[in-house]
Amino acid sequence: MNVTPDISKQVVPCWSCHGPLQAGSAFCSTCNAVQPPAGVDHFVRLGMAVDFDVDISALDGIYFELQRTLHPDRFATSTAKEKAYSQAQATAINDAYETIKDPLKRADYIINIKGVNVMPDGCNLVNDPSILMEAMEVREKLAAAENISDVDAVANQAREEMKDIVAGISLAFRGDDIEGACQLTTRLKYLTKLLDEVRQRRTQVV
Ligand SMILES: [Zn+2]
Repeated sequence: MNVTPDISKQVVPCWSCHGPLQAGSAFCSTCNAVQPPAGVDHFVRLGMAVDFDVDISALDGIYFELQRTLHPDRFATSTAKEKAYSQAQATAINDAYETIKDPLKRADYIINIKGVNVMPDGCNLVNDPSILMEAMEVREKLAAAENISDVDAVANQAREEMKDIVAGISLAFRGDDIEGACQLTTRLKYLTKLLDEVRQRRTQVV
């Protein structure tokens, strides 16, 4: 995953009135023209600080307000250029929202932003022996499940563990422990995958 450099503090000219605007703004604060999406990170795009601890209802509020202002109906009589910009903005904002809303994607993304020096290739610990061992153990439990309640027990345990892991990731980021956050994020990846497998397994047992 490539994260573009943070140009959030940059001021760029509006394509329409040439007035100054903050890179990443969807609209010009002077003439209100919709802007093409700038290469800012997902947090800047939504006007948020890069932080793992996200207030989801605040995030939803920002997202739905932006999507409302970018709704195609509002551009029905706009130029082709403005229509294209508004669609590109809506797509970029969707992308940002989907990434920030999901704890796993959010963790991965923040590691990319904050870990450039410690982990230039991003969080990639899928071959860590202790994590692999843990993943194998849960998978064996799932394979051994003989009925729906066995499968659900494995799933519930995984969900509980995921809650703890998410809390741990939050602590790791707060302590600037990117490697620790990556360890936990990798475990979260395995458990997320496991829940996909649980859905499949549920169709195979009675
Ligand atoms: Zn303008």
